[in-house]
Amino acid sequence: MQYFNPNTILYLNGKFEQAAETTTSLYGQSLHYGYAVFEGIRAYHTHNGTRIFKAREHFERLKRSAELIHMPFPWDVDDLIKQTYKLLALNNLKDAYIRPLIYAAPNMSLVANKDVSIMICAWEWDAYLGHKLLKVCVSSYERPSPKSTPMEAKISGNYANAILATTEAKSKGFDEALLLDMNGNIAEAPGANIFIEKNGRLYTPPLGNILPGITRATVIELCRILDIEVIEKHLSVTDLKHADSAFFCGTATEIAGIASVEDYNFPVKWTESVGATIQRTYKCLVLEKQNYEVII
Ligand code: PMP
Repeated sequence: MQYFNPNTILYLNGKFEQAAETTTSLYGQSLHYGYAVFEGIRAYHTHNGTRIFKAREHFERLKRSAELIHMPFPWDVDDLIKQTYKLLALNNLKDAYIRPLIYAAPNMSLVANKDVSIMICAWEWDAYLGHKLLKVCVSSYERPSPKSTPMEAKISGNYANAILATTEAKSKGFDEALLLDMNGNIAEAPGANIFIEKNGRLYTPPLGNILPGITRATVIELCRILDIEVIEKHLSVTDLKHADSAFFCGTATEIAGIASVEDYNFPVKWTESVGATIQRTYKCLVLEKQNYEVII
């Protein structure tokens, strides 16, 4: 995966700079302790041009993440959205993944650093191709307790946990890990939320011990429009292994069907599942196709 080339431009503290020539200090809390917050955002090539999906929600969550770890956020969300569109245009990107990161200035102490920088970079991301169904394992790692680190925030340091769980899942021959929370309930994947289907209804873990996914909120909204019942409740591995179907959702993942959890194969064919309906609708939404269909 090539994230940048000699022509790539990134946004750094109000300026557009050559990615290849930008540097950072090796003596900072972000690199050493994971004291940084970030976002993962998608831009889609739609019939209305390049559109950043849920841009405001993502930059608002970035702001909230910064607040939760006592980092200042001296930027205006509207301006950041405007600069991100400019960044995409400067790099001639249409289908893209956008990564804003707020990191601390050089300082190796354990006290919250008030001197912060914002960097936004973007790289090309394949247009939606559909996904193969995933083989999932229940991770031996659990999600950190919200008492140890705010799970509502997208903190860089929390992703050491995600790397461990993903590496373990792949080393055992699975595609993806599913992590439990500190009470043994289903939490989320290393980079996605989960929904399960049972008797035509969808169930998903409540907020509290998981990242409040913007895709998760979008799925719940789509279900309201499509008149599909969604229940937010704590779910056990037994609930999962009695479900009809299940899927992950996230900005990068979009909607990805799950074939199996360890030795349990979901009995409902993916194409006939509620998740497949959500997958089709989500695709129309991100590509802004619903308005298009109304117009023609
Ligand atoms: N959980 C975790 C741990 C994640 O990293 C992500 C990806 N940001 C998600 C859930 C899904 O969140 P979103 O839909 O906002 O991308």
